[in-house]
Amino acid sequence: MENIFNITYDNLENYFINIHDKKYRATQLYEYMYKKNVYDLSSMTNLSNKVKERLLEDYEFSFIKIKKKQEDVNVKKYLFELKDGNTIESVLMYHNYGISLCVSSQVGCNMGCKFCESGRLKKIRNLETYEIIQQFLLIEKDTKQKITHVVIMGIGEPFDNYDNIMNFIKIITCNKGINLGSRHITVSTCGLIPGIKKFMKDFNQVNLAVSLHAPNDKIRNKIMPISKVYKLEDLINTIKEYIKTTNRRVTFEYIMLKDINDSFDCAKELALLLKNINCYVNLIPYNETENIEFKRTKKMQILAFYDILKKSGINVTIRKEFGGNVDAACGQLRAKTK
Ligand code: SAH
Repeated sequence: MENIFNITYDNLENYFINIHDKKYRATQLYEYMYKKNVYDLSSMTNLSNKVKERLLEDYEFSFIKIKKKQEDVNVKKYLFELKDGNTIESVLMYHNYGISLCVSSQVGCNMGCKFCESGRLKKIRNLETYEIIQQFLLIEKDTKQKITHVVIMGIGEPFDNYDNIMNFIKIITCNKGINLGSRHITVSTCGLIPGIKKFMKDFNQVNLAVSLHAPNDKIRNKIMPISKVYKLEDLINTIKEYIKTTNRRVTFEYIMLKDINDSFDCAKELALLLKNINCYVNLIPYNETENIEFKRTKKMQILAFYDILKKSGINVTIRKEFGGNVDAACGQLRAKTK
């Protein structure tokens, strides 16, 4: 049976029409679930018993569970247990501009990036829409705070689970419910070109971030196996097409890995690659993990790398760090609990 939190507003309207009920039931149900955070049918007093019985016959109303919560300065990490016993993580971050939630999109990940802890566990399965939306709902309920931004940057590759991510975005942006602004949502991909092409047509207001991490195929092939499938040149051309179609700026994420991609030559090559592209580069200090041998670039070197990009006219920032103490930082999330 399908979980009720998988259903977009339009499909819920169709459902009520199909069972010969009124369309506005969809509005009522959506308001309970996504505005009032009422999940128990018996508390939904506007709906008749007949409708409730029918809903229970057709849909499942179950939830994923918060299994563990860890806190650090300005960050909370949640471990969730899914119905089948698999676990995933989400990270809540307190910024000066709001509260952002980093959600997972898959159990494990098949992209195999060499530096990433989350990807050491191969993909077990895609998350269903309800498992993504419930990360959001349960954390809002737990903190009693409104989440203002969502980044799809947790465990998994969102464009390897395109349809469920698309439904998730439709649901959180729906004005009958949570009504989050599209521009407050960011999808991060390791560069799956077919996904980027679909995305630019489906969601031209949602932010796109691309994990670049190297200025050429030679280095990129060594650390991101996916780049053997989608070559850098094709990726960059797709991004140019994306910018032309959507008129939006793209973010490139660039992890600084000691002696791998952090030389001055790399900085110059990167500046050349991104010249005249409407983008900005987010330099990410690498979070070391005990299982992986890569090392973090020294602060001075990161600053020098930053300077070269800046002087070449590239918009560049160095990512603020969150959650290192509770292993909640990028690349430290894992689907397995120790
Ligand atoms: N699969 C998607 C989203 C998940 S990763 C993607 O690749 O974009 C989110 C970001 O964290 C990516 O840019 C990823 O490369 C980065 N990351 C992975 N491991 C990291 C680590 N150990 N330190 C810092 N960033 C890391």
